[in-house]
Amino acid sequence: MQTTVDFRSDTITKPTPGMLEAMMSAKVGDDVFGEDETVNALEEKAAAMFGMEAGIFCPSGTMTNQIAIKCFTQPMDELIADQTAHVYRYEGGGIAFNSAVSTRLLNGYRGIITAEMIEPEINAENIHFPRTSLVVLENTVNKGGGACYTLEQIKPIAELCHQHNLKLHLDGARIFNALTHTGDDAKDYGKYFNGISVCLSKGLGAPVGSVLLADKETIKQARRIRKVLGGGMRQAGFLAAAGIYALDHHVERLKIDHAHARILADELAKCSWVSAVLPVETNIVLFDTVEPADKVVADLAAQGIICMSTAKNRIRFVTHLDIHPEGVEYAVKVFKSLF
Ligand SMILES: *Cc1c(COP(=O)(O)O)cnc(C)c1O
Repeated sequence: MQTTVDFRSDTITKPTPGMLEAMMSAKVGDDVFGEDETVNALEEKAAAMFGMEAGIFCPSGTMTNQIAIKCFTQPMDELIADQTAHVYRYEGGGIAFNSAVSTRLLNGYRGIITAEMIEPEINAENIHFPRTSLVVLENTVNKGGGACYTLEQIKPIAELCHQHNLKLHLDGARIFNALTHTGDDAKDYGKYFNGISVCLSKGLGAPVGSVLLADKETIKQARRIRKVLGGGMRQAGFLAAAGIYALDHHVERLKIDHAHARILADELAKCSWVSAVLPVETNIVLFDTVEPADKVVADLAAQGIICMSTAKNRIRFVTHLDIHPEGVEYAVKVFKSLF
């Protein structure tokens, strides 16, 4: 049988035996009544990790982001984000649909924006202008190839937001990848953000779920919004148990994913069919191909290496929990055999 190694996304992971066991033995209740002790434990644990007051468990990162945006804005307001932002590009127009808010886009470097870039885009008080009320950062930046903000880069943005009375939200779908790379302490994040969305089903390997962290008042409002979006789940503790397990067992190992991404990038850089490899910081490798990306994706797939094109000549590899050293070795062998 041919080896297959799937590098499409860090969302494709399956629960490990240990995680399944934790799920099977979870104590559950009706979370819409606030009675699921495992959900409550996950929310408290995640909030404490990031130095935030409270949390709310949701089915997806799209929902945690959209709830945060709704909590932090009023209709007719405007938010500021990089033009590659997931909240803008990949959440189905939810900013407009859910919050009736417009979006001011910036041209960051690999999706990373600065206080200097944000400041001139904050609207003055004038009836012609939508009221700027929120800044959204993404860490790591998905479309930016897993690029990271350090806390040092975030501080001046948080200060600017504070001066202008803007809320600051973090789309932390891969926040633990960022923390692994930068060495920053999760606990310090609570000082700078009003909202933090943490994904449990990307690099951390849980089957479902994200947690939104904020102060108690915001989370109270978030519960109303989650309900209206249809995101109230009942015995969700089975899923929350997977999240707790992931936080306890799958954070430390992210450095393995990063090392694997590094190996792939280094080997790709040597290949004649690759024209450029973008900088790699975490678990995402973006590279450009001489021939059309779709043709290369098909050639790789024919040998069991599954990946995705993200542009006409660009391919993305993502490393994750289900990629083992042998899989990386096999991928390198296939890279060398192409053309
Ligand atoms: C995956 C992702 C999300 C949320 O995705 P869901 O599939 O809705 O859980 C949000 N932001 C970023 C940057 C992501 O990569």
